[in-house]
Amino acid sequence: MELWFTEKQTPGLGITCKVLQTLHREVTPYQEIAVLDTEQFGRMLVLDGMVQLTISDEFVYHEMLAHVPLHTHPNPRHVLIIGGGDGGTAREVLRHPQVERVSLVEIDRRVMDVSRHFLPEVAVSFDDPRMDVHFEDGVAYIVNKCGEYDVILIDSPEPIGQAERLFSMEFYEGISSALREDGIFAAQTESPFVNQELITRVNSDISSTFPITRLYLAPVPTYPSGSWSFTLGSKCYDPMLSLRDGGLAGVLRYYNTDVHRAAFQLPNFVRELLCEE
Ligand code: SAM
Repeated sequence: MELWFTEKQTPGLGITCKVLQTLHREVTPYQEIAVLDTEQFGRMLVLDGMVQLTISDEFVYHEMLAHVPLHTHPNPRHVLIIGGGDGGTAREVLRHPQVERVSLVEIDRRVMDVSRHFLPEVAVSFDDPRMDVHFEDGVAYIVNKCGEYDVILIDSPEPIGQAERLFSMEFYEGISSALREDGIFAAQTESPFVNQELITRVNSDISSTFPITRLYLAPVPTYPSGSWSFTLGSKCYDPMLSLRDGGLAGVLRYYNTDVHRAAFQLPNFVRELLCEE
């Protein structure tokens, strides 16, 4: 009998794929974790019924979340990742030789354990000597941190449950304090087709905290609508003007300097969400 998995992405929209095998399923104190082997997308990490990554398209999301801010900052040495327990964002950050220390704050230790076992090509970096991993709430972690990081990346799930406060004004203010005076942060900020109110609110909150706020886009086929947004807040460097050569040509599958520049060119309906002309 064929097995199909459906994520109900909105009340009226879903993504359905054929499952070859359910590799893992468990309930932790934080969420249900599942790993499915799908015919179309390969292995898929699912939290509380929502697709977090698939082997076939995770490179787009992780490269764009990490490399856009890391190529904007001239010397990113200390990086903080909040969420991201699958390891994909850390893998991309550690490609930068300037990076001396990466702290990853994941609320659920089991996401890392399961990813190490079932998604080894994603969870490749946890044993890197530059990594330190903390299992706690990211909002609590940054309280009282002051001027420690060059770059902070928010690799969160949808703004539901324990992830909701990762999209709050209080959290953005904490990030701003935790960054150095020329620091940059970037967060995944959902779909411009199905999360329009969220994008408008988040952009307004980040704009009132950071002098430079830029939204950029990339395609992620297994996320709702397939079109994904990221929002970057910067104290000093504008990602549309400041772009260094990271020396990663030939290594990455999605990101390059042309993609970096193009990702900030927004269609009219997205400009309207940001209240831009
Ligand atoms: N790429 C993904 C996406 O956009 O769907 C996000 C993937 S990553 C697996 C998200 C991680 O954030 C999860 O492992 C989850 O446990 C973690 N998380 C959720 N809320 C958190 C919080 N408050 N502090 C730290 N980690 C959190």
